[in-house]
Amino acid sequence: MKEILTNNRDETQKFAADVAALSRPGLVIALNGDLGVGKTTFTQGFSRALGVTARVKSPTFNIMNTYRTRHFPIYHFDAYRLEETGAQDQGFEDYVGTDGVTLIEWPQYMADLLPNDRLELTFTRGNQDDSRSIYINGVGSAAAIERQL
Ligand code: ADP
Ligand code: MG
Repeated sequence: MKEILTNNRDETQKFAADVAALSRPGLVIALNGDLGVGKTTFTQGFSRALGVTARVKSPTFNIMNTYRTRHFPIYHFDAYRLEETGAQDQGFEDYVGTDGVTLIEWPQYMADLLPNDRLELTFTRGNQDDSRSIYINGVGSAAAIERQL
């Protein structure tokens, strides 16, 4: 487990760009943490680093958005609304951990669909308004990514 501290959204997006540079198709990134802590901000920085120009926002109502890049698709989930219904029988397994990189906000609501090998990022608020601690836990093959960050 590693921890990094960011002091503002730009630093979180810079960190996301570092993660993007190490990402390969099939990687799943679980983005843990409360509302407003920076999960979507991270996804914006990640996507932009791979050349996405579309505006990235939380797919709260449609659960998943896809962004095309030159390298691989990005599947961006916000599982918050699955708290009640669960994630079964919606075809999400056709995306998670397949040909793209999958980023999942509120991953606890799609726990059954998460592969064992994954990068777990946990965001918490720091002492200052704009500071965040990000805990990095690379599980299985994602341990190599944690080591390089
Ligand atoms: P979430 O997706 O976790 O609900 P968002 O990324 O949508 O959160 O919102 C995070 C908010 O916090 C944004 O308004 C962003 O500008 C602000 N913010 C302040 N400091 C940081 C930081 N260090 N990292 C990320 N976001 C930050
Ligand atoms: Mg969000």
